[in-house]
Amino acid sequence: MTNQDQSAHLPLDEFRRHGHQLIDWIADYLEGIEDRPVTSAAAPGDIRAMIPDNAPAEPESMDEILADLDRVVMPGVTHWQHPGWFAYFPASSSPASVLGEIASAGLAVQGMLWSTSPAVTEVESAVMDWLVDLLGLPAEWRTDTGPGGGVLQMSASDSTHTALVVARDIAVARGASRDDVVAYCSAQAHFSLEKGAWIAGYKHIRSIDVDEKFAMDPKALAAQLEADLAAGLVPAFVCSAVGTTGTTAVDPVRAIGELARSHSIWHHVDAAYAGSAMVCPELRHHQDGLDLVDSYTFNPHKWLLTNFDCSAFFVANRQPLLATLTISSPLMENEASDAGAVIDYRDWHVPLGRRFRSLKLWFVLRSYGAEGLRKYIRQHLAWAQELHAKIEGDERFEMVADTPFALVCFRHVAGDNATDSLVKSINDSGSAYVTPSVATGQTFIRVSVGSTWTERRHVDDLWDLIDSAASPV
Ligand SMILES: *Cc1c(COP(=O)(O)O)cnc(C)c1O
Repeated sequence: MTNQDQSAHLPLDEFRRHGHQLIDWIADYLEGIEDRPVTSAAAPGDIRAMIPDNAPAEPESMDEILADLDRVVMPGVTHWQHPGWFAYFPASSSPASVLGEIASAGLAVQGMLWSTSPAVTEVESAVMDWLVDLLGLPAEWRTDTGPGGGVLQMSASDSTHTALVVARDIAVARGASRDDVVAYCSAQAHFSLEKGAWIAGYKHIRSIDVDEKFAMDPKALAAQLEADLAAGLVPAFVCSAVGTTGTTAVDPVRAIGELARSHSIWHHVDAAYAGSAMVCPELRHHQDGLDLVDSYTFNPHKWLLTNFDCSAFFVANRQPLLATLTISSPLMENEASDAGAVIDYRDWHVPLGRRFRSLKLWFVLRSYGAEGLRKYIRQHLAWAQELHAKIEGDERFEMVADTPFALVCFRHVAGDNATDSLVKSINDSGSAYVTPSVATGQTFIRVSVGSTWTERRHVDDLWDLIDSAASPV
């Protein structure tokens, strides 16, 4: 065969037509999203029941395929981009991000090595270096000038797991037995800490007490470190959270960093949600102490208008990371790598293959600009403060935590039943969605303001809903 048969592919002129059609479909969706109930009403198996048991033997037309977005998929979609999305944390996106994602899929290149597509590495390094300045991170974390550097990973869980592996390796290289290494985080840390430590082989994972603001108590950390050292164990890793998932509590990064330094422990910061807010200089006091930090992660895919997956991971010094994760293979040899002239991001994380993830973030940062991003974050902060004030001023409610960012945590003073029924009323309305959680044994409501399409009126509407649905004291 001299010529490959290309007739099975969607002809490119049809691809163009359907591509335009699909962009229209996405724009129509976003334009009309407010009229949909936030959550899907599908019961388990409903969507699967609309899909044949086997793949089609013969090709189907793209018209039929695209029509099934409305017929099959939409009934099972919970609308994370709905302006009434106040649940969990946002999983934001934006038109600029979607365009970057499409470009990445169209190019479909692998960026495991610089040489396998130089632009994948160099755009990513540039964008990560931009973030260092945008978020007020230490200049040494830049890939162009510093000993450190940044890389995009799939999720904060991956970033944290990577840091845990490096920390374990450092301790083992200094002579510790793998069985003796210990990881520390606060009792309010995200479960990715425990899971990551477990997967990285830590047998000792300490959950340190928090104070009345849900922040790690450094005295409790110091006491645990002493106890573990006395027992012959080897402290290897500690995580400070800047913005916990439960209540956005902020651990004392500097105090924890000083303890970490004096015990030669790897100090990681999990700012998965709140990191995006550091585009605003007035919030950076929350992360004071970054000069005492070895690694840092935050998710642009949460609050920085970039669709999943896009998690930023920085190290203050890339050498220990590379020492742990670099593997050589004859297939991967090439001049640029061998000369040490380039970054090969496959050595910065677990996967080998990597997609052009930085394109969407690059599009976003350019399309909004630093001022646009600050304005975007600041309006969420302001609306959350307004809502906090209204709730705090109402005798039916009590605040569960401060609102340092844009998450408002409160409960009904009458107790869990009244709080649960308020959650149900809000969520049954279809126009807003919140998720409850538990702190100090009591249920509370988390209102996370931060969806791309949320406007002030949506937060006002949510307050009206809370006000009318809450039972009297
Ligand atoms: C959301 C969150 C995570 C997990 O993020 P993934 O990217 O989904 O792994 C970790 N830590 C904190 C504090 C979070 O809020």
